[in-house]
Amino acid sequence: MNTTFGGKPHVLILGGGSVGLTTASELRKTLGTEVAITIVDPRPYMTYAPFLPEVGAGSIDPRNVLAPLRKILPGTKVVTGGVSAIRSADNTVVVTTEDGAQLEIAYDYLVVGLGAVPRLLPIPGLAENAIGFKQVEEAITVRDKILANLAEAASTKDPKVRKRLLTFTYIGGGFAGGEAVTEAEDMVRDALRYYPDLHASDIRFVLIDAAPFVFPELTEDQRAYVLNQLRERGIEVKLETFLNSAENGVIKTSDGDEFETDLLVWNAGVKPNPILMDEESSDLPVVTERGPLMGKLDTLADLRVNGAEGPIDNVFAGGDCAAVPDLASGEGKFCPPNAQHATRQGKRIADNVARSVQGRPLVDYYHKNLGVMATLGMYKGVGRLMLGDKEIDVRGLPAWAMARAYHVYAMPTLGRKAAVLAGWASNLVSRRDIIGIPQSADPRAAFELAANSGPKKK
Ligand SMILES: Cc1cc2nc3c(=O)[nH]c(=O)nc-3n(C[C@H](O)[C@H](O)[C@H](O)COP(=O)(O)OP(=O)(O)OC[C@H]3O[C@@H](n4cnc5c(N)ncnc54)[C@H](O)[C@@H]3O)c2cc1C
Repeated sequence: MNTTFGGKPHVLILGGGSVGLTTASELRKTLGTEVAITIVDPRPYMTYAPFLPEVGAGSIDPRNVLAPLRKILPGTKVVTGGVSAIRSADNTVVVTTEDGAQLEIAYDYLVVGLGAVPRLLPIPGLAENAIGFKQVEEAITVRDKILANLAEAASTKDPKVRKRLLTFTYIGGGFAGGEAVTEAEDMVRDALRYYPDLHASDIRFVLIDAAPFVFPELTEDQRAYVLNQLRERGIEVKLETFLNSAENGVIKTSDGDEFETDLLVWNAGVKPNPILMDEESSDLPVVTERGPLMGKLDTLADLRVNGAEGPIDNVFAGGDCAAVPDLASGEGKFCPPNAQHATRQGKRIADNVARSVQGRPLVDYYHKNLGVMATLGMYKGVGRLMLGDKEIDVRGLPAWAMARAYHVYAMPTLGRKAAVLAGWASNLVSRRDIIGIPQSADPRAAFELAANSGPKKK
């Protein structure tokens, strides 16, 4: 036992996302102050990612999708820094803080919830010109960029510049990418009422995916419904198409198309946190076979990490960075990376850590999928709801309302739930905001301009 924590077992949680936050709060509920808990994350808040498409469309205030770790986890030590090394053989982790200092933290129990990062491909111009959609800053930037471009395009006389400003390209038509583009298109259509100089036909939203369909989690019939909706709304969907190059904002695709874009959003999949893949930085075992599980922590159904010599009894993992057997779906199946599983795995990890501390047997993770639900802009949605063995196909307004209701329920803290609801109510009365603030990337520009202007004294 680690004596630096007053003789209490020390539970160290890596990542303050869905898994980390849930584990910490549930563990505190179960064991009270019997354990010391530390949570490590470079950000002092948890991001509720399912709401990012609505942040990108100005339907939700960005702060309301963030849950401040220090506020909601009283009694838990929060370390703001990034994990740079995991040495499970020594029960220690190295954390690098913002100022470059390295902290070595010992643990009795380790919980790994380090999530995933965007999976990039070696496409010329991609790294330099695209933006991801996993962080709140990215969603804010996308929204501000689109709205600022509308204002700029309405004021320019150059048709080429105008065309480029009004072309928005999204790569990846999975749930995150599909929601991001449909919500943004909805925002633009709404904003156009204030732009008499712009017409809907001036706007070009392009969604590109290598697969023959978008929203892979839906049934074939639902995919066709969504595709039809997107195309009816004027979103150009290019299926079985690859992005070949994005140099200088010029998009070249495998179907021979070439066009200029002022916004390129990359949503074409994620991969587990790269720290886990690098033998130099982590000694935890990961799946090495090529495929969707590659790089994820090899995890048992009871959420312990599975080492070469059997389970590592004091290391647990869950969420997007872990290959967790999906017992509810049958042998050989693994849980898909989503918040629905991540939060429930966090609960199971907390209970199993408590069981380990108390010397009781562990329990396997079992969760029957509740279904999937996506919003496609205001009052539009689609989803599959699982009720026991029955699957219900939900579309349109009911799907949109159900998706919103579920995410308000799942969003951490009562205060944030209330703020999201209040924001939606306010949008109903006064419509959503149409101001884009691209200057937020350079907030000192006006001050510097003032400092350098005016008569120069000799
Ligand atoms: C745009 C978008 C929309 C989505 N929509 C849905 C949806 O509608 N429904 C759904 O179920 N799921 C959705 N998801 C997926 C869902 O958000 C994730 O599956 C879920 O958050 C995974 O939880 P996690 O705890 O594994 O990872 P995360 O919640 O991502 O948490 C990982 C944490 O690790 C931290 N971290 C990273 N590197 C380090 C490091 N070196 N050291 C310390 N900490 C680190 C990160 O800052 C982060 O806080 C969406 C995701 C996105 C991006």
